[in-house]
Amino acid sequence: MTARILDGKAIAAALRARLAERVAALPYSPGLRVVRVGEDPASGVYVRNKDKAAKAAGYDSATIHLPAETTEAELLATIATLNADPVVDGILVQLPLPPRIRTEAAIAAVDPAKDVDGFHPLNAGRLAAGQPGLVPCTPRGVMHILAEAGVVLRGARAVVLGRSQIVGRPMAQLLLGADCTVTIAHSRTRDLPGECRRADILVAAVGRPEMVRADWVAPGVVVIDVGINRLPDGRLVGDVAFGEVAAVAGAITPVPGGVGPMTIACLLQNTLEAAIARRGAA
Ligand code: NDP
Repeated sequence: MTARILDGKAIAAALRARLAERVAALPYSPGLRVVRVGEDPASGVYVRNKDKAAKAAGYDSATIHLPAETTEAELLATIATLNADPVVDGILVQLPLPPRIRTEAAIAAVDPAKDVDGFHPLNAGRLAAGQPGLVPCTPRGVMHILAEAGVVLRGARAVVLGRSQIVGRPMAQLLLGADCTVTIAHSRTRDLPGECRRADILVAAVGRPEMVRADWVAPGVVVIDVGINRLPDGRLVGDVAFGEVAAVAGAITPVPGGVGPMTIACLLQNTLEAAIARRGAA
């Protein structure tokens, strides 16, 4: 068997095109502000890609780049200004922050109504309580891929590898909300391969290159690979050994070109929804 490749790049492009149409019909441009502190090189690429995609879809997007020596108080003051600015609908604080700034303090400072990353404890709590709110972009993107691929979620056994606040936990909540039977596995899980083999849907978000092997998965499983790992030779690989797992799985996302592009598309979707919630659609 050879797995169906789930083309996140194409699904994301279609979603961005639909969002651009909805934005064009609004009497205003949804405002997105990305706050970057310091010179983390990977962040630079991410921030530029977000800004480019947002502008291309008709958003009023800008990046606020603060120097590496910015204090926590200065960052919180910048966030407070954006919270109060009526043309700003979405605020994203790019992680990682310099060590001197507490990430939780920055996340908690963002107005939950403008928290388009969905990381604020209020939005995390809403998700856990099954209430509507802004949902983290990467897990939201995974749900979108599963929907586009026509994967039946109700009653499916889903295994989420990883329990981070930004991917694993919200991912598990979303799958649970869609009536999957969810297992969350992590670095203390006993018999990880055995847990994974029980999955109808396996979402890998661990940050370990090609950790999931062919003998970890059941035939026909849907594999979603969130991992982005740079190997010493420069190659980009996921958390799943793509070639060998694709020979067993029913469907699989590639890296790159799977979940990654969905994250930015869902950021735009969150920003549009935050804008409509604040300003209406007409
Ligand atoms: P974190 O490092 O925050 O979390 C990793 C999780 O994996 C932890 O829960 C950890 O367990 C678990 N884990 C680590 N090693 C093992 C192991 N050997 N066996 C079992 N579980 C393990 O990572 P993130 O959630 O932020 O990101 C995960 C991956 O997804 C990374 O590769 C990242 O680059 C990628 N990513 C991709 C995005 C995209 O747009 N496609 C967006 C965000 C992230 P424990 O809690 O016990 O320590």
